[in-house]
Amino acid sequence: MIRDSGSPRVCFVTLGCAKNEVDSDRMAQRAAEAGFLIVDEPREAEAIVVNTCSFIEAATEESLEMIFDLAEIEFSDGKRPPLVVAGCMPARYGDELESELPEAAAFVPCSKEDDIAELLAEVLGLELPLAELAADAADERSGAVSAYVKISDGCDRFCSYCTIPFIRGRYRSFPYDQIERETKRLVDSGAREIVLIAQDTGRWGSDFDEPSSLSWLLASLAERFADTWFRVMYVQPEGVTDELIDTIAAHDNICSYLDVPIQHVKHDILRAMNRTGSREEFEELVSRIRRRIPAVTLRTTLIAGFPGETEDDFEDLCDFVEGADLDYVGVFAYSREEGTRAAALENQIDDEVKLERAQTLRDIADTVCTARVAERIGQTASVLVLGREEDGQLYGRAACQAPDVDGVVYLSEGEPGQFVTVTIADTLLYEMEAE
Ligand code: SF4
Repeated sequence: MIRDSGSPRVCFVTLGCAKNEVDSDRMAQRAAEAGFLIVDEPREAEAIVVNTCSFIEAATEESLEMIFDLAEIEFSDGKRPPLVVAGCMPARYGDELESELPEAAAFVPCSKEDDIAELLAEVLGLELPLAELAADAADERSGAVSAYVKISDGCDRFCSYCTIPFIRGRYRSFPYDQIERETKRLVDSGAREIVLIAQDTGRWGSDFDEPSSLSWLLASLAERFADTWFRVMYVQPEGVTDELIDTIAAHDNICSYLDVPIQHVKHDILRAMNRTGSREEFEELVSRIRRRIPAVTLRTTLIAGFPGETEDDFEDLCDFVEGADLDYVGVFAYSREEGTRAAALENQIDDEVKLERAQTLRDIADTVCTARVAERIGQTASVLVLGREEDGQLYGRAACQAPDVDGVVYLSEGEPGQFVTVTIADTLLYEMEAE
């Protein structure tokens, strides 16, 4: 492509979870501040940044497929936009990638993402600072009604199956000022819901010289931005303190929603996972939260087919899901990841059995959870209007629905960014329809 005189155009393509989306947004922000124009369409870009996910093998494969697809783009003058491979994949595979992925012009592991503008300038043969300013680019990207804010990075838990501590490094909380500044930027540009995320949100502030807590952070943000909904995801069971539950209960603008990944309920499996807890403890945790906030929405995630999981262990897990008083359950089949301790365990379960167990558990969770969604018919709910689908249908989100993982509410009236009070008239699986 022949360069015109405007800002050099860069497209960010993101794979994986919401945390990666936040990282892409941050890189795009840095690039825009340096004078690059951020575009949505890879074919319009002079350079493409692929923010990869490599958490499990399937995610690595998906990232590779995307890289190969993007490497096919060719402009009329025969040139191809350079590909910058960022995020988890270079962090996990390091130098190995350079020889195995000639499609990439450069690699940016998670720890180097702040240098994205310099790297883009280098691959495009430009010099910073660029002549054009980034105001247009920044404005083009603003306006999301709901946005994620990452409050920490890394993880110290070292669950035996997980690659994240190796990819993302040790746990480090972001300072309050940084989180507050990012929240303000998003609120000023139209966000009415802020979703706090991290690998382990419940630990926020514990690593400061003067330790703080997620409860304090949530209360401070909720009070500072009183017209904004706040929601917190990925609170590990140990992070669900009475103080946190009280803070959620005490603020109307903190969604009564807790996402607490427990992964399994059998003591031996949890220890092999290098995790704590037991079925009794998790049941007590659910009761403790519901005693304080009866209408709270609870989500968890579970892994089926971990090494050593017997038929009895699996039946116990199914039995737990049938009676656990949970609203949403995400299920994953165990993935044997190179370099993790769990990968070296004996008693690995056959792939076919793992997938079967995961599907069985998913079916049970769907039966239990969609019935709970249907119990909301006739109830009133405050809904944040998010926008319109391609066919023009208006949709929004109730406090009981987290972005990307739960359903939405279909509406007949309202404007994006408005809160409307509706009655739930009907449900279809995880989706709700409002009057
Ligand atoms: S808590 Fe466990 S599963 Fe979650 S990121 Fe940390 S090590 Fe991985």
